[in-house]
Amino acid sequence: MTDQKTALVTGANKGIGYEIAAGLGALGYKVGVGARDDARRAAAVDKLRAGGADVFGVPLDVTDDASVTAAARLIQEQAGGLDALVNNAGITGGPEQAPTTIDPETMLAVVQTNVIGVMRVTNAMLPMLRRAASPRIVNVSSSVGSLTRQTTPGSFVGPIAVAYAPSKTFLNAVMVQYAKELAETNILINAACPGFVATDLNGFRGTGTAQQGAATPIRLATLPDGGPTGQFFEDAGTVPW
Ligand code: NAP
Repeated sequence: MTDQKTALVTGANKGIGYEIAAGLGALGYKVGVGARDDARRAAAVDKLRAGGADVFGVPLDVTDDASVTAAARLIQEQAGGLDALVNNAGITGGPEQAPTTIDPETMLAVVQTNVIGVMRVTNAMLPMLRRAASPRIVNVSSSVGSLTRQTTPGSFVGPIAVAYAPSKTFLNAVMVQYAKELAETNILINAACPGFVATDLNGFRGTGTAQQGAATPIRLATLPDGGPTGQFFEDAGTVPW
């Protein structure tokens, strides 16, 4: 038996997910590097290992049932269980997202990845999480999903993005339902906004680094027992719904 905890980070081959994996590795976690592309996943695993982290690659497309089922089996085999799940993988649906002109297929694709994908991975990992001593689930959301901020003049919510922003509102609403169902368990589930950080997602226009963006997700993945659940955080504190 070992005291080492195991985490899975989805979309960990680059950006914020990569830095969450690196940060949890530095804290001593064994980290499953979830990524859908074989070459990108292998490169990330090599780089994380070179930095001293105990990581293993997890082939994972969050939109694919068979892929997610196989990922859960692999984690059970490689690590014997799971203590923390960070649902980080996400897409925007592209730069042009006016509600009056958007392609319905784009709406569906974004919801499939950012919402249904999170549910698919969470539900597949839950049997292992339920067996952990202090299980944690973190959904990497965005403050642009805050309806309060979207409707508060002067709040920074980026451009009109009818697929991306409401997908994060939807994700947060789904997370609240999970928190209610899991309230009598030891599982803490929370949403994290990483801030506006420079990654492929925004053409590297973000003002912070991916490493800075990883801080709140890592904090929520490593919350002590008795910590908050069903809440939405950014670096400065809670985000209004
Ligand atoms: P990123 O660099 O584009 O990384 C996104 C990651 O998600 C990539 O690893 C990508 O894999 C993966 N991914 C996408 N679809 C997937 C799928 N179907 N299955 C598995 N993995 C998939 O973006 P990022 O900025 O780090 O974003 C990470 C999270 O932070 C997202 O949920 C995003 O909404 C959120 N966020 C970002 C910002 C920001 O300012 N950057 C702000 C708020 C919230 P591939 O390499 O294979 O495409």
